[in-house]
Amino acid sequence: MSDSLSLVCEELIGFTQGQAHLQGSQCADCGETYFPAVHSCTRCLSTNIQAYNLGNAGVLWSWTIQEFLPKPPYNSGETPANFKPYGVGYVQMPCGLKLESRLTESHPDQLSIGIPMNLVLIPYRVDADGKVVHTFAFAPTRQHPTGASHA
Ligand SMILES: [Zn+2]
Repeated sequence: MSDSLSLVCEELIGFTQGQAHLQGSQCADCGETYFPAVHSCTRCLSTNIQAYNLGNAGVLWSWTIQEFLPKPPYNSGETPANFKPYGVGYVQMPCGLKLESRLTESHPDQLSIGIPMNLVLIPYRVDADGKVVHTFAFAPTRQHPTGASHA
């Protein structure tokens, strides 16, 4: 991964030594975390907000399978002819925040609440210049057959 990737929303993704992470914000007064980042805290009304690295791993909190073509503004260039169902879920990050994300997995038997998930960047659409634009998604963390914890 590199920071030269074209992204749907560049402000959502940060890079540390080439590794992508989700970029949010945190209230310096009460500690509330936000994704996407905000400029003022809805919990305590402070404007003392700092950038916050949410990390690149979480736990699947809930999920479903998107079985039909999403309406705008979710324009990935898919058409009824080439649309394929995909997973959508809420992933709980280590700070406790739950965020909605596409999932790379679309088979219900591969998803269950509580499984560990890792951030990935996936091709989303092609822009007018022919450049592939990426978005973030979460993929199930491949575990050992014993189900050993990665914590
Ligand atoms: Zn606050």
